[in-house]
Amino acid sequence: MAGPWEDVLRDAAALREAAAVAVDAALLEGVLMRTEARPNDSDEVNYAPFTLLPSVVPCALFEQAYAVQQDFNLLVDAISQNKEFLERTLASTIKVDDFTARLFRIHTQVLEEGLAQSVFLGINRSDYMFDCGVDGTPALKQIEINTIAASFGGLTSRTVPVHRRVLKVLGKSEEASRLLPNNPSRELALGIAKAWELYGSPSAVVMFLVEEVQRNIFDQRCVENVLWDRNIRVIRRRFRDVFEQGSLDADRRLYVDGQEVAVVYYREGYVPKNYDEQNWEARLLLERSRAVKCPDIATQLAGTKKVQQELSRAGTLEELLPGRAQAAARIRATFAGLYSLDEGEEGDKIAATAIAEPDRFVLKPQREGGGNNLYGEELKQVLEKIKDSPERTSYILMDKIKPQPAINYLLRAHSPFQASECISELGIFGVYVRQGRELVLNKAAGHLLRTKAMEHADGGVAAGVAVLDTPYLV
Ligand code: ADP
Ligand code: MG
Repeated sequence: MAGPWEDVLRDAAALREAAAVAVDAALLEGVLMRTEARPNDSDEVNYAPFTLLPSVVPCALFEQAYAVQQDFNLLVDAISQNKEFLERTLASTIKVDDFTARLFRIHTQVLEEGLAQSVFLGINRSDYMFDCGVDGTPALKQIEINTIAASFGGLTSRTVPVHRRVLKVLGKSEEASRLLPNNPSRELALGIAKAWELYGSPSAVVMFLVEEVQRNIFDQRCVENVLWDRNIRVIRRRFRDVFEQGSLDADRRLYVDGQEVAVVYYREGYVPKNYDEQNWEARLLLERSRAVKCPDIATQLAGTKKVQQELSRAGTLEELLPGRAQAAARIRATFAGLYSLDEGEEGDKIAATAIAEPDRFVLKPQREGGGNNLYGEELKQVLEKIKDSPERTSYILMDKIKPQPAINYLLRAHSPFQASECISELGIFGVYVRQGRELVLNKAAGHLLRTKAMEHADGGVAAGVAVLDTPYLV
């Protein structure tokens, strides 16, 4: 298939020149990251990795992904309020996966005490790839939904002007004008602002719960800036700070360093390495508080791979979204095959199939952040080892999605300039706010396109594999 960049891809000299322009444009526009060597100060920064050219995305699939986002918001929100579903779904997982078990324990504990929180804020990102069917027609297939710390809503808006410039330099002004504007961080911040407002204490602050290592701070600053512009105070704290300085008053209002916190926005807390005993204690304190957590722990659990797999069972979506058959159908249309490895006949059968045909599947543990999944020969070896042990149930199996690759250049500081065969992953941000039982905001909040070289099976931008991109709709 002749892509829109076929002619420019033949002119190596022009591409090199455009790449130099692109890098400077990225720095000027703020497509920035701190360096690996100095992740916690801004004395030294560089551009976040990005593609030289925008990648082609089929318009119909892009629209489909936007159209289903409010449904996904509803679904995640419904799961988070369904104690019985979470309990039943995660029962096998928490027996073998300590991290999920620990989260689940806090979930149970706060429910037993009774929730002090009455305003709920969800920020998620549903990720997709374009699966190439036997006849070559691409289909939208969900990879996963991220319900905690979904990132790059800030930096992604800034690649649009960079790619417009690149296309103009390459003589593609008409195409440049067709790149869509995109500003997720603004929409996410407006969701946070809404939750802050409903919390109803004008002197309270929004707290970004951040990691010890903060390379991606500029992405977060994009969200912060919108809040400051609206005169909402933002503080940044780590779990450690909450452990040392956090407390609840008699009404379970959260105070950190003497400041009341209205909203806790987690950009941390999604992987085991984020927690030591003190951090778990801090997490419990936050969850017990009246503050709006984005996400609350139930919503984090709603984003686990095990929940994703159970959603694909016949009837589950309909059970979770009663009276919303069309929403359920729109959601289901995006599902790839997902399989439980729980003990029993069903699990035995699919494990045997995956061992026989490993290239058809991806083996996924209950982890986030990229680099955890297993493919091909490795998938086969691991499954052979664990197929008769309960450890099997800490994983799920998923059909491997096979997108059509395209040539692009991945621009990364200190890396050679070379063409790669690439595949892309489209993410749609969602934001919603619920007060008590009433949903007061439910929106699709912009998109993120990430592209990686074909040879990498796994990994996101933060993991150093994928790079930022801008969709070019056809
Ligand atoms: P994580 O929570 O670590 O981000 P993901 O489910 O998003 O886990 O998987 C990480 C990466 O692995 C994805 O970004 C994608 O590149 C690849 N991947 C995941 N699932 C599939 C799949 N079913 N088919 C092909 N690639 C996949
Ligand atoms: Mg992912």
